[in-house]
Amino acid sequence: MGDPVLRRRAKPVPRVTSSLRSLAADMLATMYASDGVGLAAPQVGVSRRLIVLDVGEGPVVLFNPEILHREGEEVGTEGCLSVPGKAGEVRRAARVRVRGLDGEGRTVWHEAEGLFARALQHEVDHLDGVLFVDRAERVWDVPPETTLRLVFFGTPGFGATVLQELLAADCRVVAVVTGPDRPRGRGGRVLPSPVKEAAAAAGLPVLQPASPGEAGFLAEVAALRPDVLVTAAYGRLLPPELLALPRLAALNVHPSLLPAYRGPAPVLRALLDGAERTGVTIMRMTEQLDAGDIVLQREVEVEPEEDRGSLEARLAREGARLLVQTLRLLAGGELPLRPQRAEEATYAPALRPGEERLDWTEPAGRVVNRVRALSPEPGAHTFFRGRRLLILAASPAEEAASPAEPGSVLEVRPREGFVVAAGTGSVLVRLVKPEGGRAMAAADFVNGARLRVGERLGA
Ligand code: ZN
Repeated sequence: MGDPVLRRRAKPVPRVTSSLRSLAADMLATMYASDGVGLAAPQVGVSRRLIVLDVGEGPVVLFNPEILHREGEEVGTEGCLSVPGKAGEVRRAARVRVRGLDGEGRTVWHEAEGLFARALQHEVDHLDGVLFVDRAERVWDVPPETTLRLVFFGTPGFGATVLQELLAADCRVVAVVTGPDRPRGRGGRVLPSPVKEAAAAAGLPVLQPASPGEAGFLAEVAALRPDVLVTAAYGRLLPPELLALPRLAALNVHPSLLPAYRGPAPVLRALLDGAERTGVTIMRMTEQLDAGDIVLQREVEVEPEEDRGSLEARLAREGARLLVQTLRLLAGGELPLRPQRAEEATYAPALRPGEERLDWTEPAGRVVNRVRALSPEPGAHTFFRGRRLLILAASPAEEAASPAEPGSVLEVRPREGFVVAAGTGSVLVRLVKPEGGRAMAAADFVNGARLRVGERLGA
């Protein structure tokens, strides 16, 4: 930008020589490396009438291109490698016929429409010293973070939400890496991960290595020339060779206020602990689990009725917002880093066998926290008339505890559900899922099962 060569009328090429042919090859390589769809010789400092293009239909080289015929009109968005950080709306002919000499010096004609027609007109303009901003009806700044090439790693719903928010913010995800397809949900059918589904819906390429350290996979990621790797609940630690690949950084979105709740289940553990606030952290990834330097962090209040599903979704959206801010800083050449206080670290292990079972001798608040932490999946369970009953939503009941056995039904509320005695206090059960059945309002369950006061839940 600003070089006078961009504003000169370029000279025709009298003959296609071998040095001009190698210039064209060099320009194509430059164009591909910069993710452009076209490049004109003045843009690399050579005032000659030569353009190269590839709009996805293979490389085109044209010496002395001339637009012989224009037809129709179309407004479209353009950018230019010589005008970085800007985009604009430009009115161009919808179809053009162009004549020129190909790489071998033979006369060729192109009948072009769509993006090919637009790119030809843009590049021929360059040969006449005209830039798209001269013709644009409207020019705007392209946010710098949207120019970074991201490779996104994620697997469950948390990752899918972060990915969708990044795409909604126009971030440039060049590929998505996710865990292998596994049996999921009812009936154990093999299903794609939520991140894979989100990637497919956005038309993004998906990579599913058995292990992120595989040599073939490392080569694939390297070929994508990522500026940044982003992980959001990928489920695997990335090996050092992978962390070293991106040009700028490898970042992780972690749904806790690190160094609290490092590990695989931060939201679940925060809810089990009855935390009233938690948060989300953008961290620079290292080889150690969740121990890297903190870039940005935001605290979030936990709503009393919130379960893990809704809290995770909220933290994913907040995390994506922080990530976009981080990318903007990175694109501008700065990345503030703050080491974690390792001595304050706590660990959030995955759910252990037996932890999904409700213990009615616990205080009401703890019973409710377990229900929230395990909803909507896999669901906290108890037993009722010898069968497993999932409890998906519950809240502390207002009335004081009566001296009833923990687990016994104290009250049936036709509209709300039923109240169960806990170790101290009592719990209003609002949403249940009987074994093999569907989730239903506890009030409907009460009617269907003819639940009576005095019946017992639990083993
Ligand atoms: Zn251009």
